[in-house]
Amino acid sequence: MKLTFLGTSHGITEKNAFCSSTLVTVGGAQYLVDVGAPVDTLLLNRDIPFRDLRGAFITHPHQDHYVGLAQLTYTVEDFGCFADVAFPVYAPEGIDFSALNVFLWGDPRGHDRYRVENPPERRIRFRVYPDADPAGSPIFDDGTLRVTAYPVRHIPHSHAFLLEAEGKRVVFTGDLLRDLSDYPRVITDPGKEPLDLVVTEAAHVRLDDPDTPAILGRSRTKTLVISHRAPGRNPLSLVEALAERIKPIEVVAAHDGMIVEI
Ligand SMILES: [Zn+2]
Repeated sequence: MKLTFLGTSHGITEKNAFCSSTLVTVGGAQYLVDVGAPVDTLLLNRDIPFRDLRGAFITHPHQDHYVGLAQLTYTVEDFGCFADVAFPVYAPEGIDFSALNVFLWGDPRGHDRYRVENPPERRIRFRVYPDADPAGSPIFDDGTLRVTAYPVRHIPHSHAFLLEAEGKRVVFTGDLLRDLSDYPRVITDPGKEPLDLVVTEAAHVRLDDPDTPAILGRSRTKTLVISHRAPGRNPLSLVEALAERIKPIEVVAAHDGMIVEI
């Protein structure tokens, strides 16, 4: 499994950092976790054809996690050269994709094209997944990648995702509460299999809060990637200080373009 961090910023685009999006590659199949970045250009820059996309998964209904879908939808749906593209977008409640059609094409009659039950001829198919069970709710399994959602409490309909493929297990926490009281138990539970990688946020949490190292240090993972980082609140020096506190977990600060293979 290969993770390419397409966008690692929080809230707003920063210099050299788009909003959240990670490309997950399993063999020849491509998946996206959050689409806050201009992923169409970013995929083209990497010579990844849109037809290799097998699914996109949105953690929660904040714009910096899904706004890139607007341009991707326009590009993929409007041009015949992308007729071979077909993939689902799994999004939580709270995002009105029906309005996307009017925004892009100004055709209110086309509303139904972006409702949950999209007709099969649409290339990008939007699916709403319901709020997950605390024990985990499976939302996707194509035989290559399995995605299980876990509720977190950042805003209503917020989720962490467990991705499983090729015998590897990765958790994306999505956005969390500042005090990390919703840090997903699937990461820390000694009754669960250890993880190969955790990608957590640093937009809301304060890495210098006294309790933060203890909470993140309970992660049962080899590597902890800090992404979606607010540089003013959590400068790189705090990531480095955290790394010292929670050894032997390897702590990595993500940047746009970073690739991690597990
Ligand atoms: Zn958010």
